[in-house]
Amino acid sequence: MKAVTFQGVKDVKVKEVHDPKIEKPDDIIIRITSTAICGSDLHLIHGMVPNTPEDYIIGHEPMGIVEETGPDVTRVKKGDRVVIPFTMACGKCYYCEHHLESQCDNSNPHGDVGGFLGYSETFGGYAGGQAEFLRVPFANFTPFKVPEDAEMEDEKLLFLSDIIPTAYWGVESAGVKEGDRVIVLGCGPVGLLTQKFCWLRGAKRVIAVDYIQYRLEHAKRTNHVEIVDFTTHDNTGSHLKEMTQGGADVVIDCVGMDGKMSAWEMVETALKLQGGALGAINIAAQAVRKGGTIQLVGVYGMRYNAFPLGDLFARNITLKMGQAPVIHYMPELYERIKRGEFDPTDIITHRLPLEKAEYAYTVFDAKLDDCIKVVLKPGG
Ligand code: NAD
Ligand code: ZN
Repeated sequence: MKAVTFQGVKDVKVKEVHDPKIEKPDDIIIRITSTAICGSDLHLIHGMVPNTPEDYIIGHEPMGIVEETGPDVTRVKKGDRVVIPFTMACGKCYYCEHHLESQCDNSNPHGDVGGFLGYSETFGGYAGGQAEFLRVPFANFTPFKVPEDAEMEDEKLLFLSDIIPTAYWGVESAGVKEGDRVIVLGCGPVGLLTQKFCWLRGAKRVIAVDYIQYRLEHAKRTNHVEIVDFTTHDNTGSHLKEMTQGGADVVIDCVGMDGKMSAWEMVETALKLQGGALGAINIAAQAVRKGGTIQLVGVYGMRYNAFPLGDLFARNITLKMGQAPVIHYMPELYERIKRGEFDPTDIITHRLPLEKAEYAYTVFDAKLDDCIKVVLKPGG
């Protein structure tokens, strides 16, 4: 089969690889019909996720049709349509039973963190979903089975695999409530969906921050938010604080690691700025009101450990973060899409055959061709 493979920093190739096989009695094999590229894949191709070997198959936002089932699989059958979450989870451990499937105890033999589809050996070593076929483990718990009467096209459902429940979880975890003033950092797919959910939870003001003009314009046009281009202010944090008369109740960081700066450049810039705005996390620390909440949805890694802890402590800030536990949100969010409460498709700018993945990564990474979200279609 064909699959998108990691070859090195900023180097992905569509290659011919072996088809996946049933390895455990509760595995299934699916034929992928649609699969998306995520901002998290950019961290991976920027070389920021350790232990990603050459030829590793990437991708964690797939859906498709069940082709084959292991002997212990009871929850889905051949021919079922399924959306596969990025979090691999057993459904039986303490974390799965307490709505924290992203920390499943049994999905990652390589460490005390959850296992994620197509996200390196560090996160379990599962071959990813930007491919024609995929092995899905824990098939009695992990996949979301699309109801048989659903007439919705793939595009309405595909992002249930990650960014819809991630954005929803971020807003819920941050405790956004009626009347809140919320700042959303980042107008990528995750930020744009987060803005929608802030309104649905009754926020009074939603301010979106980015520096890519077409993404800011998209946020304003589709989500009716106020927009701020952070490159037009010397100190974006204090500008946002002024805009919100003392700081926002909640700041949600939908940016995470910036792959464009080397670790050393970051240290140098931080020293130069002496605590000024460096990257989204520092903007968040400055723009939140005393006693407010910062929610990190954007992914961070170890090199961000130099962090403004003193400032946050002094101002009684609540800081929440993590890999979204997406599985238990999927049925509820499916119903909300079905009822038309929000439209997840307005972020899709590119629909391409799987073979065009190299081009797709280039435009999504460099923010070219007005790219926001890419959906790859194997076999199409
Ligand atoms: P993306 O790269 O398309 O979007 C990020 C946006 O942030 C870009 O538009 C970029 O211009 C903007 N940006 C960069 N620096 C900024 C700054 N200092 N302030 C404001 N905006 C800035 O990615 P995406 O697909 O939207 O994903 C966003 C983040 O969410 C990524 O870090 C991704 O890994 C993460 N993510 C986390 C989870 C989770 O479970 N926590 C799940 C999915 C994605
Ligand atoms: Zn993702």
